[in-house]
Amino acid sequence: MERGVTTRRQLLSAMGMLGGTAALYLSMTSLGHASETQFAGPPGLSGARKGASVIVLGAGLAGMLAAYELRKAGYSVKILEYQARAGGRNWSLRGGDTYTELGGATQNVAFQPGNYLNPGPWRIPHHHRTLLHYCKAFGVTLEPFIQFNHNTFVHSSQAFGGKPVRFNAAAADFEGNIAELLAKSINQKALDEAVTAEDRERLLEALRGWGMLDKDFKYTAGLRSASHRGYDRPPGGGVNGAPIPSALYNLHDVLDPQVWTSMAFFMNHEMQTTMFQPVGGMDMIGKAFAKQIEGLVTQNAKVTKIAQDAKGVTVSYQDTQTGVAKTEKADWCVCTIPLSVLSQIDTQLTDEMKAAIQAVPYSGQVKIGLEMKRRFWEEDDYIYGGHSFTDQEIGLVSYPNNNLFKDGPAVLLGAFARDLGAFRLAGMTPEQRIEAALAQGSVFHPESYRKEFLSGASVAWSRVPWTLGCCARWNEDTRKEHY
Ligand SMILES: Cc1cc2nc3c(=O)[nH]c(=O)nc-3n(C[C@H](O)[C@H](O)[C@H](O)COP(=O)(O)OP(=O)(O)OC[C@H]3O[C@@H](n4cnc5c(N)ncnc54)[C@H](O)[C@@H]3O)c2cc1C
Repeated sequence: MERGVTTRRQLLSAMGMLGGTAALYLSMTSLGHASETQFAGPPGLSGARKGASVIVLGAGLAGMLAAYELRKAGYSVKILEYQARAGGRNWSLRGGDTYTELGGATQNVAFQPGNYLNPGPWRIPHHHRTLLHYCKAFGVTLEPFIQFNHNTFVHSSQAFGGKPVRFNAAAADFEGNIAELLAKSINQKALDEAVTAEDRERLLEALRGWGMLDKDFKYTAGLRSASHRGYDRPPGGGVNGAPIPSALYNLHDVLDPQVWTSMAFFMNHEMQTTMFQPVGGMDMIGKAFAKQIEGLVTQNAKVTKIAQDAKGVTVSYQDTQTGVAKTEKADWCVCTIPLSVLSQIDTQLTDEMKAAIQAVPYSGQVKIGLEMKRRFWEEDDYIYGGHSFTDQEIGLVSYPNNNLFKDGPAVLLGAFARDLGAFRLAGMTPEQRIEAALAQGSVFHPESYRKEFLSGASVAWSRVPWTLGCCARWNEDTRKEHY
């Protein structure tokens, strides 16, 4: 090995440090986020052998970033990309766009200018430091993504008479009831063995403060509980200024899984605030990356085979415009093609590696965007961003975080379905999906949902030709065996 020349191991580990995406391994959590990174700054690659070449497969963010850093380090880089667009899952659909899914259904998106649906990624947590670094470096303007909104709804078909309730009221009642029950256990000496006398006092104090209990450690309708769950009439000035507390929900309804799963959702590390989104749509990131590597990407290039020998790598691909088969050679190859697709490509990888690639299933989330004539969720329900959760197939309705208070049409996310709900929606035609989203989402805004609807678009990720799924779903067993 020449002195000063980067070894394969050094190159791969430096690429791996770039972040949680697919440069080395495609690893995504079950929630569809790239995993957190140990990123402490760009990799500082150097020492490329003069004339050394790299071929990158896939022009998603992982591929484009690999190309960017490798070219900076002195390698001669080319990217092969299946689509007529760089960005991969980093994608936005706007009025005038056309999208054809597996199965052949084509949608012509009819949103008004300026409106968009992010069918894939949509929120960037504060700890995605790699991405945030490059957004800043490449001039992508970010704005807050309103992840947590106390004033959205929680809906369960099994509780509260099937009617949606406000998150703050349900969560406050959950905490209040838990606090009261725990205080009761302490006062009935059920925890004397588990907790010291001093800590029992501290815990009681905490339960009263956190759960809004009264002096007798009871969670009751009154000004204390109302200060968390909301009022029938909030405190104000003037002759009618005296607040009227709201009534509590019954314990059975409050223990419905929709309530505590909604609360727990926000405690998930990946879902914690602060979160961001690019101004103008998620694909602003892909576009900014693409600008940095202009001229390196061959689009409409469907990789069909990856062969390697002692001298380098030969990649076979088909030009999807002409049908002509072509090859490209390089010393190195960085493959960012999703495992769901890579598992169907002819490679010379070891049996062990092939087994790993085959072993990882991809989830099949479905997203549906609905354009509404006006922002009735803001104007009528005082909801500015955030999510209303439901146990129906759509999973949630999420409200736009941009252009708040603006007149005119806006796009809300009418579904982010997963698991069984996603299977059912993916099995429908795009028109049926819109109808299902309207029928189910109406539970939150019965007066306006259908009345204000203009047009919709949907992406069922199990039908996306270039990923055949949303995200890799490693579990503990596959990780142990294959990662
Ligand atoms: C519904 C959904 C929601 C998500 N939400 C979030 C979120 O909120 N926050 C977050 O951080 N992450 C989220 N993610 C994950 C995020 O999108 C991915 O981690 C990231 O975009 C992956 O980038 P990548 O470059 O590794 O892969 P990709 O973007 O998939 O890039 C792979 C590229 O390979 C190309 N390709 C495929 N086959 C071939 C072939 N045969 N030949 C040549 N090229 C090929 C594809 O066209 C594509 O451009 C979400 C993903 C989905 C689908």
